[in-house]
Amino acid sequence: MNGAPSNEPSFRQSVDLMYNRAVALMDLPPGLEEKIRVCNATYTVRFGVRLRGGIQTFVGYRSVHSEHMEPVKGGIRYALSVNQDEVEALAALMTYKCALVEAPFGGSKGGLCVDPRQYDEHEMEQITRRFAYELIKRDLIHPSQNVPAPDMGTGEREMAWIADQYTRMNTTDINARACVTGKPLNAGGIAGRVEATGRGVQYALREFFRHDDDKAAAGLTGTLDGKRIIVQGLGNVGYHAAKFLSEQDGARITAIIEHDGALCNDRGLNVEAVRDWIVRTGGVTGYPDAAYVADGAALLQAECDILIPAALEGVINLTNAHDIKAPLIIEAANGPITAGADDILRAKGTVIIPDMYANAGGVTVSYFEWVKNLSHIRFGRMQRRQEESRHQLVIDELERLSADTGIGWTLSPDFKQKYLRGADELELVRSGLDDTMRIAYQAMRAVWHGRDDVTDLRTAAFIVAIDRVAASYRAKGL
Ligand code: GLU
Repeated sequence: MNGAPSNEPSFRQSVDLMYNRAVALMDLPPGLEEKIRVCNATYTVRFGVRLRGGIQTFVGYRSVHSEHMEPVKGGIRYALSVNQDEVEALAALMTYKCALVEAPFGGSKGGLCVDPRQYDEHEMEQITRRFAYELIKRDLIHPSQNVPAPDMGTGEREMAWIADQYTRMNTTDINARACVTGKPLNAGGIAGRVEATGRGVQYALREFFRHDDDKAAAGLTGTLDGKRIIVQGLGNVGYHAAKFLSEQDGARITAIIEHDGALCNDRGLNVEAVRDWIVRTGGVTGYPDAAYVADGAALLQAECDILIPAALEGVINLTNAHDIKAPLIIEAANGPITAGADDILRAKGTVIIPDMYANAGGVTVSYFEWVKNLSHIRFGRMQRRQEESRHQLVIDELERLSADTGIGWTLSPDFKQKYLRGADELELVRSGLDDTMRIAYQAMRAVWHGRDDVTDLRTAAFIVAIDRVAASYRAKGL
């Protein structure tokens, strides 16, 4: 659902307006501006599934925004509100997101109009397999052409069904597992993919807080410790971001906004306990250890240091942008701020860490998973061998020093073994993600601070991303 009022542009138009603002500051060859902006193709599928004694018809989409690199990449969303405009906007954001974090993919997105809560597991499997069948037939799911992933309403379970469906239809494809990412670990997934988007939000904020002048732009000082955070949406992304920021960085989650209201506690909410409550009861209503506010969305306007919209697009719009008090907003969701609201917030001096960067952790770890599937080597084995030989050199040097100086101590075999074992897959994934988030932030920041005509991080992010997409078009031709 686009939460923006009807007098605002659609989600896709909103993305295009922000794109245009950046392009106006760039010097692209004539025509290339339009070529990059438009969505290459959107496939609509209508299919029937025999359910509960009748046939139910479903409508789904897979949109391909840009094929400057292949495969194209992007999640599949399950929600009743899915529509072509939304899927195209999300596909466009995937193009820019991948370019910004240098994941070598074009942009795509899919969606199915379905409320997953209305169906049991077996029914969801039938629906998912049928949708996947339609897309696989047309190479809209394919390891080298189009690689979906989870998004709102889908997760590991759906990805496992899709991968299995592809494998059944392509029994001789040795790379079949790479046709989709976000799979369970035992079905070709990678450690750390489920937490990846939320983890990326944490790493993004940590990197922001390393730069005094960036903090100063938002009127903030110090570290994340004690900062008051409001999170909208305790789904996969919001939950992990809130959990890590509160448990590891000392931030206080002072409000959690959900579909049925909000919870507030100035001393900080226990994210794990709230999540358990939501999983058990379906919402935040009745949660005992916090004040409950029925009009949850009103809390987007509450006092805090950092606002994390992690739910739907369009939730910060012309109706509430003027009243937003957070000096720093990090867009964990895709498109939570409309183009009109973005203008208002920029004029007020609110610092916005834009979606295409803030939620890029998911596709970054998807990239690691895809590489792992294609390499057919357990992820980290190559890196580990290099680590081991470096660690061995350190051990040799320490033992030589000990002998030379006559001190005579020795390293215990247990220490040596642990030291040599090196990082496991989860550690490698996290450190790769951390590097990616830091490097991408610095690329954005260099444009933000380096150009007088760029006054916000979103425009800077667009400039970096569009520049890279344009460069690959120039290199390979249209
Ligand atoms: N759906 C996620 C996103 O919006 C992940 C996409 C992916 O991993 O391909 O970025």
